[in-house]
Amino acid sequence: MRRRHFLESSLSAGMLLGAAPAQAQREPEAGGTGSTSYSVAPTIERQQPGKPHKGKVLAAIQPHCDDIPIFAGGTVLKLLDEGYSGILITMSNDSAAGSGASIGEIVLKNERDTVEVAKRLGLKETFFLNYPNHHMDGWQILEIRARLVFLFRAMKVDTVLVYDPSALYERNPDHYVTARAVEWAAAIAGSHWDYPEHFKAGLKPQAVHERYYFARGPQLVNRIVDISPYIDQKVYVNMANVTQGPAGETGAHLRRRLAQQRRKLPLLGNDDETANRQYTKQFALGRDRTRGQAHGLEYAEYFHYIGPDESEVEAYVEKNAVPL
Ligand SMILES: [Zn+2]
Repeated sequence: MRRRHFLESSLSAGMLLGAAPAQAQREPEAGGTGSTSYSVAPTIERQQPGKPHKGKVLAAIQPHCDDIPIFAGGTVLKLLDEGYSGILITMSNDSAAGSGASIGEIVLKNERDTVEVAKRLGLKETFFLNYPNHHMDGWQILEIRARLVFLFRAMKVDTVLVYDPSALYERNPDHYVTARAVEWAAAIAGSHWDYPEHFKAGLKPQAVHERYYFARGPQLVNRIVDISPYIDQKVYVNMANVTQGPAGETGAHLRRRLAQQRRKLPLLGNDDETANRQYTKQFALGRDRTRGQAHGLEYAEYFHYIGPDESEVEAYVEKNAVPL
């Protein structure tokens, strides 16, 4: 298993300090029937050399244009750097958040920001599913799920990044409806028995093998992704969301407000571009620094990761089968 070579649990890393890279342990807490424990030893996922994910496709899925940039932008950049290609799927029409003179203008500005986000992340395609912002809980989840299954098959998606369907205290319906729709779409996209009419149109079953779930509230975190090498690009990605979100041009606005008061923050530099970058890194993405430092890293993103199933039967057969 290739991933064993770059993964290490914080527990075994501590025990093997100074030794060769620790062998990653299977993450029985990741999902399925492996464990029901809330107490897990998180695994640190670090940058890998080469292109170990060559040929694989990821789908970064977000209800709104700033969700993936904030919570998973660094991991998307890392996985693409390691060989993945990827798509961005935005579920809502982003009509209810951000600056603009009218609803139509807000939608257009958010749409343009999203296209720029995808470009800066390095994703090859952007899909807008256009569900009503803040009202996705009024929509049929079956219809949402069916569209996602179609996309996973059409784009041959191996890995999804999305809000955690099992996170606690998530109050935004767009977030939890998206998470639940993705959860089961990813589970059935590989089945011959779900939406078999797709196969008449030339699609094939497509099993989604890996999930990176992020959350705004408490969640079971079993994967710490070291995004330190990607933080500056993540900052740049977040700066593309100028219509909504915590980054955009907020640094420049703060710099201007302070100047009116005849004050300045040395942190924000002497021009708008520097102010936006520095503000984003220091404040908008301060969470990543806190999370990284908690694990001896500069910057990190947290996930509940669910990996491919590994068959204990097949492993036993490989090890123990003898000629007839
Ligand atoms: Zn959101």
